[in-house]
Amino acid sequence: MFNKILIANRGEIACRVIRTARHMGIKTVAVYSDADKHALHVTLADEAVWIGPAPARESYLCGDKVLEAALRTGAQAIHPGYGFLSENAEFCRACEAANIVFIGPPATAVEAMGSKSAAKRIMANANVPLVPGYHGDDQSPALLRQHADDMGYPVLLKAVAGGGGKGMRQVWSGDEFSEALEAAQRESLSSFGNSDMLVEKYLTQPRHVEIQVFCDSHGQGIYLSERDCSVQRRHQKVMEEAPAPNVSLEVRRQMGEAAVQAASAIDYEGAGTVEFLLDSDGSFYFMEMNTRLQVEHPVTEMVTGIDLVEWQLRIAAGEPLPLGQHQVTVTGHAFEARIYAEDPDQDFMPATGVLKFLQTPMESPHVRVDTGVRQGDEVSIYYDPMIAKLIVWGEDRAQALQRLTVALTQYRIAGLTTNIDFLYNLATSEPFAQADLDTGFIQKHRALLFLNPSIDEHEAVALAALYLLLAQANQAQILASQHGEPDSPWHGTSAWRMNEPHVQHLQLSYRDQAWEVSAEKNPTKNQDSFTLTIAEKNLQVSGTLNNGELSADINGFKQKLVVAEHDGIYSAYQNQGAFQFARISPDLGEVGEDSRGGNPRAPMNGTIVALLAEVGTRVDINTPLLVMEAMKMEHTIRASRAGQVREFYYQAGDLVTGEAELLDFHADSAEVAS
Ligand code: ADP
Repeated sequence: MFNKILIANRGEIACRVIRTARHMGIKTVAVYSDADKHALHVTLADEAVWIGPAPARESYLCGDKVLEAALRTGAQAIHPGYGFLSENAEFCRACEAANIVFIGPPATAVEAMGSKSAAKRIMANANVPLVPGYHGDDQSPALLRQHADDMGYPVLLKAVAGGGGKGMRQVWSGDEFSEALEAAQRESLSSFGNSDMLVEKYLTQPRHVEIQVFCDSHGQGIYLSERDCSVQRRHQKVMEEAPAPNVSLEVRRQMGEAAVQAASAIDYEGAGTVEFLLDSDGSFYFMEMNTRLQVEHPVTEMVTGIDLVEWQLRIAAGEPLPLGQHQVTVTGHAFEARIYAEDPDQDFMPATGVLKFLQTPMESPHVRVDTGVRQGDEVSIYYDPMIAKLIVWGEDRAQALQRLTVALTQYRIAGLTTNIDFLYNLATSEPFAQADLDTGFIQKHRALLFLNPSIDEHEAVALAALYLLLAQANQAQILASQHGEPDSPWHGTSAWRMNEPHVQHLQLSYRDQAWEVSAEKNPTKNQDSFTLTIAEKNLQVSGTLNNGELSADINGFKQKLVVAEHDGIYSAYQNQGAFQFARISPDLGEVGEDSRGGNPRAPMNGTIVALLAEVGTRVDINTPLLVMEAMKMEHTIRASRAGQVREFYYQAGDLVTGEAELLDFHADSAEVAS
């Protein structure tokens, strides 16, 4: 076995690999960029080597720098994690040439699966079932279009070199084909340096079920159960589980065997994942093979009890597979929820910022948190915005789901937008509980997932108002003690001061609406207790506030919640889920004023990719105006109203900051109004 390995990655996966290596008595070397000087993976490793500036192209993607770091520190092997260099055949070869073990498959296997179209040809020869489609080298747009027309719509365009859902476009009719092709090619070229596309039949309601395979260097291969990863946005997974619900033993065995067959066809070694689309009639089709450890590998670990990273290290060191197929058992059920810095309400747009407040659920044999960040760390534009993976296990699916739900309410983050509320709504939704899964799940159940119907509006506003009143009282008390008069009757612990008006008026915003609250102090000695009037409804509220923990009583219903503030926005975490509110201060202008009115703005920092509308011509509502790229994804900015583009303020290639006005747009409705 190795005594020192280098981990050519960052974030949670680097930390995850370090954990197992340490457990096995193997020393670890981390690599880091300028952006990661103080990152957790650097702190955890025994040694760390700086490899360049923040952009991945100049650091984590530089195979030569990584190899040099390994040689310098005497690491005998390199674990690539996922992403970055993990599926780079050239890097595998360079490792081999430098006499360093690449912890993964041989370069030939990486190469065989590196191109989605080449992979499909190999699989067809190995009799693994495929989605019908065109996987050829001739890339003329007319030919691609012809294949799409012949196949019948909808079709899916996929980057041959793709991954992570990038460079992929659904096309629902021939009219949309050219625009979709150009966008997919552009995204693919910028992400993968290659714009080749394959065209395949788009299955409308499949499930994504994938098989974990493991092969050793002695010619043995096995499968370790499957994972259902059907819940996706932008063709990227957000929630995974093992085993896949409602799959018969027979289909499971067939998929497992097909996966091992696929791996054998390319003389695979190490951990790999064979992804299939599973149709409702039980037929399944090979989609691709990922020649590395997957993000979602922990759910397999939870149900099989196997440490997949340990197996990777053993196999890379030349050991045989620790278990045979018949010794593999699956116990209970596991979920993984991916916690991302992103805004579900804005089409899951990636978010950036500092994790000003971070509290994770208590870990136990049933609850695991894989993360690479701590409170105070930044989620930057340079890397994937995943903050953590929350993994839970239960004796059955229902128990695991229950544990997931509880753990999500205990996951508390402030400082940037996250998808935790969304995950919570997903985990508590009826269709998810019923395992009514397919890759269109999020789309199909939008209404349930985006607004949590279990939170009562008046109650949320009352909690928010109570919090603000108590926070104000606490603040007054701090000020008083700073002035050396803690016992003054003017600065008691009460939210009320004798010289304040009897009724206070608050304005706060909740769910994109402004709420007026009047608060009248009740004559009581022990607690702060108020009569609140919210939209003509009276509520009796009282409570205490300590270190951001609010103990509240609203009309006799007692509950505890944690409130965290970031940039004037408060996140309240209660048992039914999380909600946000803000205090509207008098100087913010008129209540209800639409801050996003006027010219279209950049939703975040990014680069302009293409200007799509012509200056001077009229466009309809929803017409694409320009495309910008942020965090390696393309975002199309569309006209929110019909009107005319008068001027673009930027050109393709320009950098823009979030909130910057992008163009001068004259809406038709504005004309009517003026
Ligand atoms: P990537 O490598 O970019 O992740 P994949 O080929 O793994 O791309 O596909 C990602 C997701 O896109 C799948 O999980 C599935 O939801 C969807 N998808 C891929 N191919 C098809 C298809 N032919 N029909 C329907 N959905 C598909």
